[in-house]
Amino acid sequence: MTVIDGRGVTRVLRALHAAGSMSRSDLGSATGLNRSTVASLVAELVEAGIVEEGAGAGGTVGRPSLMVSAVPDSLAVIGWDLRVDSSSAVVEGFGGRILHRWRKDHRRGSTDPYEVAARVVTGSSEIAEELPDHVIIAGIGCAMPGVIDPGGEPPRTTIHRAPSLGWVDVPFGVILGEAMRERFGAHVPVLLGNDAKLGAMAEWTRGAGRDSRAMVFVSGDVGIGGGVIVEGELLTGASGYAGEIGHLRFDPEGPVCRCGARGCWETAIGINTIVRSAGMDPVAAGITDVMRASTQGDAASANALANAARAVGQGLASVVNLVNPDTVVLAGHLAELLGTYKHTIVEELRFTLSRDSTHIDVVKPELGADSIVIGAAELAFERALSSPARALAEAVSLRTE
Ligand SMILES: [Zn+2]
Repeated sequence: MTVIDGRGVTRVLRALHAAGSMSRSDLGSATGLNRSTVASLVAELVEAGIVEEGAGAGGTVGRPSLMVSAVPDSLAVIGWDLRVDSSSAVVEGFGGRILHRWRKDHRRGSTDPYEVAARVVTGSSEIAEELPDHVIIAGIGCAMPGVIDPGGEPPRTTIHRAPSLGWVDVPFGVILGEAMRERFGAHVPVLLGNDAKLGAMAEWTRGAGRDSRAMVFVSGDVGIGGGVIVEGELLTGASGYAGEIGHLRFDPEGPVCRCGARGCWETAIGINTIVRSAGMDPVAAGITDVMRASTQGDAASANALANAARAVGQGLASVVNLVNPDTVVLAGHLAELLGTYKHTIVEELRFTLSRDSTHIDVVKPELGADSIVIGAAELAFERALSSPARALAEAVSLRTE
């Protein structure tokens, strides 16, 4: 049996996971490994069945270079985006290909941790039924609307605080791991991450932030989350909640926020605020309803959207002064707002110290609505690729018969 472990192989696997497919020489420059090391590692990985080699495009004329490619269904993970009113999942294969998607809405569903875990277990079982028999799952990553304890035991399995779920210090990763073991009779590693931070990481590696040096990701929903990445490093802070830009003080006279403070940015731009200002009920209506009413001439809706867009730009100006990003990604309902009100939002950035605010790209996520769920899958992959031999040995099919 081959022993595929060690830092060199992890570097090769990470590069292939990010790119999907590369020539041997590109793999060498991406990993800093010499030709013969790359050749022997690739040979081992081919034998293990997780990469394959074949003629690819490019190379010198008449002599196509040999391409090393990830085999997507040789190793997979499930990424979950667990929200208050919906759960969605993707099965991501090695090399970044999405093998399967799953989604369920549960308006005002229970937020009891055991019931949320049961939802994930049932969903995982439904997902497994749709996958080919040979696909094995090396882990589960969950994006959660809350602050994750970066330490904890085991690390990244405890939610320190999730106001929208009403959770304080809930060891959800352990609860879910036990529920998975009970259902599938196997240990499936579970890691938790903050939703906006995972979205930021996914956009950085696979989306709008690919060429960025400093990027701010703002996720919009009932709450406003944030992720700040500078030179590839995600800002986490001393205990994990750096980048919680939704709770920057925006209006000292504003309404009380879910966090207990007054006038946080999310009380001005959160989706419920916009829907309510448009005279609609947040339980029944969403941003698309407000947009539609606005285009049909409803003045309250038009006002609500314009005010929110201004507030987005004003709050962003503070963030821009703090971080000096070249790219700002607005996700969720803020992406929809950006579609119509980009001018209003960018206009407010003129007061920042940036010499020319037009040099800041304010964009929608390139991964669309998938950034967060893909970030969750990447979290699980990160663990798997740090110790591929262990990951391959532990990975299981979640099919029960
Ligand atoms: Zn707050």
